Amino acid sequence: MGVGETDMLPKQESPESNIVKCIFDKILEVELGKPVDFELPDSFRRWKPTDYIAIKRNIYLTKRRIEDDGIFCSCSPSLGSSSVCSGDCHCEMLFSTCSSSCRCGDFCRNKPFQRRALKKLKVVKTEKCGLGLVADEDIRQGDFVVEYIGEVIDDKSCEERLWKMKHRGDTNFYLCEVNHDMVIDATFKGNRSRFINHCCEPNTEMQKWRNDGETRVGIFAIRNIRKGEELTYDYQFVQFGADQDCHCGASGCKKKLDEYLFEGSAK
Ligand SMILES: [Zn+2]
Ligand SMILES: [Zn+2]
Ligand SMILES: [Zn+2]
Repeated sequence: MGVGETDMLPKQESPESNIVKCIFDKILEVELGKPVDFELPDSFRRWKPTDYIAIKRNIYLTKRRIEDDGIFCSCSPSLGSSSVCSGDCHCEMLFSTCSSSCRCGDFCRNKPFQRRALKKLKVVKTEKCGLGLVADEDIRQGDFVVEYIGEVIDDKSCEERLWKMKHRGDTNFYLCEVNHDMVIDATFKGNRSRFINHCCEPNTEMQKWRNDGETRVGIFAIRNIRKGEELTYDYQFVQFGADQDCHCGASGCKKKLDEYLFEGSAK
């Protein structure tokens, strides 16, 4: 059994730097006096969201940071049990996957990124939100669904890319701000996680995990999801284009995605 501090589950925080939002504020500042116009309907219609290169791991265009957090657990496999590190594992509680410092062995349940027991998922055309991703099997609350991967860029390249996107009139982008100088951009390269749509009452969430010293982002089910249900998350870290109406249909729906994006510029 692990070190039990079950009531001390750390809350995941949004990135401190908020670089993507800062850059947007800057872009908007330059445009002061005229209406912000990210909306280019023609290019939007021409946009083919399927045009991306499928990859299996993050591709680093910036230096990969490995920081040993020194976290390990003292779980050990018990006789007759086929699982260890599920429940009160110290590593799991700290959003750190088990490593070679742990003695939990082959039956460890806390290796979501290494094990890659990926859920069956299907890209579908949704009624109102373009393409979306649905579960092709039942998924249980707490299950690891898929990793959010893409090109890992620093804040400077992130800014350059955002400017280019603005000039091209792109309204869809796939930026996940992880840490200072670590933004995962799934615009050009990624996996099917990039098709997950926003919902104000989502069934999955993004979690930042430490895996062998590297920060990785996983999408986890926050309730049971039935086969055929569309996967959604609240775009907590991911930024999206302006002028996108939200059609999630949840009772607490915020209706407009851009309110969040541009909240800082309305002052
Ligand atoms: Zn453990
Ligand atoms: Zn462990
Ligand atoms: Zn373990």
